[in-house]
Amino acid sequence: MSQRGKKATSTELIHHPYQPPAGFESPVVGVHKASTVFFPNVAALRSHHWLNKSGYTYGLHGTPTTFTLEARLATLEGAKHVMLAPSGLSALGVVNMTVLRSGDTVLLPDNVYNPSKELARHELAGWGIAHRLYDAMKPETLRAALGPDVKLVWLEAPGSVTLEFPDLPALVRTVREAAPQATIAFDSTWSAGLAFCAFDFGVDVTIHALTKYPSGGGDMLMGSIACRDDALYERLAMTHSRLGLGVGANDAEAVLRALPTLALRYAAQDASARRIAEWATTQAPTVRQVLHPALPGSPGHAHWAAISRAAAGLLTLVFDPAIAPERVDAFIDGLELFRIGWSWGGPVSLAVPYQSQRLRQLGGGYEGVIVRLCIGLESTDDLIADLQSGLERLRREV
Ligand SMILES: *Cc1c(COP(=O)(O)O)cnc(C)c1O
Repeated sequence: MSQRGKKATSTELIHHPYQPPAGFESPVVGVHKASTVFFPNVAALRSHHWLNKSGYTYGLHGTPTTFTLEARLATLEGAKHVMLAPSGLSALGVVNMTVLRSGDTVLLPDNVYNPSKELARHELAGWGIAHRLYDAMKPETLRAALGPDVKLVWLEAPGSVTLEFPDLPALVRTVREAAPQATIAFDSTWSAGLAFCAFDFGVDVTIHALTKYPSGGGDMLMGSIACRDDALYERLAMTHSRLGLGVGANDAEAVLRALPTLALRYAAQDASARRIAEWATTQAPTVRQVLHPALPGSPGHAHWAAISRAAAGLLTLVFDPAIAPERVDAFIDGLELFRIGWSWGGPVSLAVPYQSQRLRQLGGGYEGVIVRLCIGLESTDDLIADLQSGLERLRREV
């Protein structure tokens, strides 16, 4: 094997002569694994830089697999630059740590993905970074919260769990007018890069929980950070790199495999969730209100309709507040197809109860229990039958 004579087996097993076949192309991208990346010589080691992705330097700074995934996500998101992170939450963290310094303030919508509030309350507060909340459905509360100390404003559409859809263009305008120094970050997870493009409304940076629709399996965690501006990308990429955030090649390949079916899955889950939402409106008074941005009457429906035709497969049922929380728990426990668990975007439908007033610091929320449903890929008729018999059980067990 070796032209330099017979080596020990241990050596031959490391310095194997394998070369990937030239001219080999298949529908999937190869799983390229590396911490170490070999350089042909010392001069190359000294001259290579990873920031512009012109070459490979170290596993943490990218492999052919992760560069390909980043490029595809940039296309999907309408961004120029994308970085991968081990989870959606860690992607949020990268944006916060890049933009914010001690003495700065970050603004969050009161209906934001709740762990984002926890990050602000604990980690950011500990570093001397303040946060203030605003009501995304009232742009005047955003204006009131803006000041020269505000360096970062988070937007999300729709809100987590209660799915209110804000007037995104109005929120962005408000920040640009009253706090031109602030970076605007958008959590794009619900849109999955399909329902609308947040960059069209002028946000600076978006994050995704690839954990949800892009992975589509309910079996892995990953996040991404995307932007258009080169200077902002350099800052984000340096913080991302100094924090040492990498993703495994097998996980990156799993997302690459799932992306070709993303639009089909999203559309199927969207159609199914809309049918279930419409059916649920016939379940009054047990179900007092159905929250889904595409449903006329749902908070912010007109804002959603102004910018999008597509929606994620999420809906929330507001139960009659006269129904005790234990009875709603029993309703969920009794469901056959809906499983109980966090996250969404996978093949299995999920149900989780919340007390929405506990998630709000600015007041609002719904009296009584609300149940967030994530619609999977099961037959819609089977899911409606499951919910129907659950509601009949709940009504019988007074
Ligand atoms: C799930 C989710 C996240 C976090 O993603 P993880 O990969 O679970 O950390 C962030 N934002 C939104 C809107 C989410 O739904």
